[in-house]
Amino acid sequence: MDDSLHLPVSVFRAVCELLARDYRVMPLLEMVRLWRAGQKLPPRALAITFDDGLGSNYQLGYPVLKALGLPATIFLTTGFVDGTHPLWFQEVDRAAQARGWGRAELYAELSRLKRLPDAEMREAVSAGVAGLNLPPPAEVMQPLTWDQVREMLREGLVDFGGHTHTHPVLARCDAAQQEAEIQTCRDRMEQELGVRPVLFAYTNGGQGDFTTQTQALLRRHGFEAALTMLPGRLRPGREAMALPRYGNPTTVLEARAVASGAFELLRQWRGGDRR
Ligand SMILES: [Zn+2]
Repeated sequence: MDDSLHLPVSVFRAVCELLARDYRVMPLLEMVRLWRAGQKLPPRALAITFDDGLGSNYQLGYPVLKALGLPATIFLTTGFVDGTHPLWFQEVDRAAQARGWGRAELYAELSRLKRLPDAEMREAVSAGVAGLNLPPPAEVMQPLTWDQVREMLREGLVDFGGHTHTHPVLARCDAAQQEAEIQTCRDRMEQELGVRPVLFAYTNGGQGDFTTQTQALLRRHGFEAALTMLPGRLRPGREAMALPRYGNPTTVLEARAVASGAFELLRQWRGGDRR
């Protein structure tokens, strides 16, 4: 199983307890708007995000967030939540399990697929699962339902952003397909939730996974900010359509290092970056 998608609940709870105790966890949109207005963020400000729209966010994560009163933003792959588009990388993951692949083989295959033009990647995934009788994914790996999304939205602690409709790597799509992914995602969310999303998270989120064209399309469709997976802190002068973000910590120690800035300091020091 792709462990990067999943944290044991006990670790997640311990990380959240640390954040609740030592940090000012704020809604991402509030943080982005303060930052865009050129205002200073509160000390130790931090936002929590989840990508894709997995059922585990509601079943496992949400009770912890509620107990601690921590706000969070979930970025939805709308076709996944609709039940019309399984996440392609989950299919690859399940096919790898069925074939008895090790983690190294799975990761090599995922990184190969992420570099292909989208149509070729989809064909390769279909070919890879053809003939395998895959069991359905575990319940927590299934999508959130729109009812769960609406419930969380209504209760006010969690809000939602866009994460495409079918989870392609946007830079591997032509302009028309990129626009369709962004627009369909926005429209499905508006239809189901009654509000248009204004935050977006890039699929995969690396430097070459979106383009200036992607950024322009997001602006045109009403998005205020987009998150990458490029690690870093929210500083003045950053591009709003390419905001930095840290991946999920796998231990409390790692969470502390990332949130406190110790990790960043070490990275800058190693990179000779003296800013
Ligand atoms: Zn994703």
